[in-house]
Amino acid sequence: MVSVKSKSKEVREISWSDSVWFFDIDDTLINTEEASLDGSEGVRKVIEAHLGEEKAKEIQENFNKIFQLMVSGYRVINNDWSKVEGGKEAFDALLAKVENCQSQVKQKYSAVKKWSREMFIKFAADQAGANLTPEIINEAADSYWLTLTEKTIVYPRALELIKEIKNHNRPIFLFTSSDARLKMTDGGQFEYDPEYSMALKRERIELLREKGVNFNIVSIGDPEDKPHLDFFQKGLQMAEADLGKPVALSNAIMFGDSFGGDLQTPKEKMGFGMVVLHQKGKQTTDVNDAHQITTGNLHDVIQYLN
Ligand SMILES: [Mg+2]
Repeated sequence: MVSVKSKSKEVREISWSDSVWFFDIDDTLINTEEASLDGSEGVRKVIEAHLGEEKAKEIQENFNKIFQLMVSGYRVINNDWSKVEGGKEAFDALLAKVENCQSQVKQKYSAVKKWSREMFIKFAADQAGANLTPEIINEAADSYWLTLTEKTIVYPRALELIKEIKNHNRPIFLFTSSDARLKMTDGGQFEYDPEYSMALKRERIELLREKGVNFNIVSIGDPEDKPHLDFFQKGLQMAEADLGKPVALSNAIMFGDSFGGDLQTPKEKMGFGMVVLHQKGKQTTDVNDAHQITTGNLHDVIQYLN
């Protein structure tokens, strides 16, 4: 049924009683980008125990710069490199290093894992002239992700929405990307084992329950990841197994902070009833078309349910 809101375009409303809810996690439910700095404290602590305070701080600083370079380079649009420290040259050099240390990943899975924190820790240590064993690198990466997750704040309006969904007794499924947990070999190469990577991420996402994110199950992007259709279909199958029946996709709602990564496939290839683009700090809720809303406040979505 199409209904008209006085202040907006038409949205195809979804009924509470049939609604099925799917969420991206990072930068949709939680503020992940800012939490990376907290995570780097975890890296520092582990390295300090092995190499002392000064080296640990240096490596932490290098790590944060490398991470920031990857984030800012990744976000460049229209070839505007002014916000990237060191510009395109620095970013290209980082990507070349990533390619060089992931031969196995490239060969077996066709694309390298750009966001592996194990690898960033290794690069940061190399810059500081320090040698870290694979064990220390693993331990530091564990500490990074656990510290980040412990310090994470769930967006308050997202929590309100989750409570409301559970008050209506409706299911919540989390669709999240891989953390790309790689293992370093003694030769300094990094290898990818999807089962290992997924198990570590599952453990960390379970911690979100303590923060009020009351979900049914989580589907993780190892090895197939967003935005591939395979990733979403795998997640949907898990949801249907959990519910014991098929999901009518016209009643499904998907939330994410990246249209291309989180929303385009569910909307255009799978026929989700509604997709919601989260933009941090946005003060209004805009209706883009009958199946898409953009908002800074996830809880606002409930006005489109009946
Ligand atoms: Mg995200």
